[in-house]
Amino acid sequence: WCGACRAELADVPGESARRCPDCDLYVPMQLSAAVLVAITRPGPAGRPDELLLVRHAYGPTGLWALVAGFVDAGETLEAAVRREVGEEVGLTVDGLRYFGSQPWAMSGPGTLLVGFTARSVDAAAGPVVDGKELSEARFFPLDALPAELPPAYSISRWLIDATAPV
Ligand SMILES: [Zn+2]
Repeated sequence: WCGACRAELADVPGESARRCPDCDLYVPMQLSAAVLVAITRPGPAGRPDELLLVRHAYGPTGLWALVAGFVDAGETLEAAVRREVGEEVGLTVDGLRYFGSQPWAMSGPGTLLVGFTARSVDAAAGPVVDGKELSEARFFPLDALPAELPPAYSISRWLIDATAPV
């Protein structure tokens, strides 16, 4: 519905937007950005690096996924990564690097997933979960990742595969 005159908005052909037929107000689709991050740390001597994977308390709870979350208004992507990592698993990361992005319609229209890789600053620090959003968080050796990973068409999986080349 039009925010100016309350007429019903119509889709604009060929665009992710709507337009008011009465007053011509142009309403682009709201885009929300979400970040996800593959966090690694050095493994024990002689062993490969380790990758942090988490399990969510809701949704596909058997799946091991990456730390992810929506970007707040006024926040940079990098700040969103650091905030989410701190909130969800209590870790500090550095060496943040952009990996790639993917439009993702599964969590609602207009979501853009932005993937990063990062290193855990304190290699000895264990991830801590609050048990509400996440039920579990663990570092896995890159040569011994669990089988229950995100699907092959998701940027989560591309990030995991790029981190742990098989
Ligand atoms: Zn209008």
